[in-house]
Amino acid sequence: MHRVFSGAQPSGELHIGNYLGAIRNWVALQADHECIYCIVDLHAVTQPYDTATLAPRTMDMAVGLLASGVDPSRAALFVQSHVPQHAELMWALNVVTPLGELERMTQFKEKAARQESVPAGLLNYPILQAADILLYKADRVPVGEDQLQHLELAREIARRWNARFGVETFPEPQPIVSRARRIMGLDGQAKMSKSLGNTIGVLDSPDDIWTKLRPAVTDPARKTRKDPGNPELCNIFTMHGALSSPEQVAHVDAQCRSAGWGCLDCKRLLADNMIAELASVRERAAELGARPAQVRQVLAAGAERCRGIAEATMGEVRDVMGLAKR
Ligand code: SF4
Repeated sequence: MHRVFSGAQPSGELHIGNYLGAIRNWVALQADHECIYCIVDLHAVTQPYDTATLAPRTMDMAVGLLASGVDPSRAALFVQSHVPQHAELMWALNVVTPLGELERMTQFKEKAARQESVPAGLLNYPILQAADILLYKADRVPVGEDQLQHLELAREIARRWNARFGVETFPEPQPIVSRARRIMGLDGQAKMSKSLGNTIGVLDSPDDIWTKLRPAVTDPARKTRKDPGNPELCNIFTMHGALSSPEQVAHVDAQCRSAGWGCLDCKRLLADNMIAELASVRERAAELGARPAQVRQVLAAGAERCRGIAEATMGEVRDVMGLAKR
């Protein structure tokens, strides 16, 4: 059975972009893979953040993931900083990672350009991502297209490690590329992201979902109700593709191209389907939110299991590096 590793940022709010782009796939993978899912708080601290809210946001993300269908009886769910071997392996991988590879990462260049003083953690972020995966010798990693470059670097780091020490410590992880099209933010400008304020949260109420969806950007060709549109250029249509039945998607396509209906009609159908899909998620989240001790217990059990796997890998790593026995 393939072992899968994937991580989610502790952003607090799990939004519909995360849910449709990644988390529904996480839930599906549990059926026939050994899954290890991690809330990556050590990654989150490489950007400016609020120390007072990091822990609550981590817990909220755990609630969102469990409510969305991550099943602790089939997958390990834990918080990255609760398994200190992630940071330890990152240091070991530092010694085989070329600086030039880190400097050419697209995400590093974009994020560094927005900061006056660039912390080393931002540059080394992909080494920690490689450590996350290689610590568990995961051979499958679900990724969106924007993460393929980082996964390729993790594969390169595994190859370099194995070549440097003449051992096969790490398998090269293979991507499971999501076929879901990327969900843009409601402003239509950028990827859906909590920091950009262009999201719909999976725990939003039906009224909030409609309030946010109503003014969302659509195909600019539909200036008036009579102008035909191009559904393939519209983020609302992308979400229909993920949430509506094939018959409904075909109907949306035809109505859009013929100006048979207005964008509000189209959004109302999407809102109804989104509300129906998320009803059970909201219900489970309310139950879990009332039992934080149970959530902490799930995370503790996940971390304990993962520390066992991680320590076995680190034993091998310390040996091949020639470090003195403890
Ligand atoms: S009708 Fe629907 S798919 Fe077409 S532009 Fe409007 S919201 Fe988008």
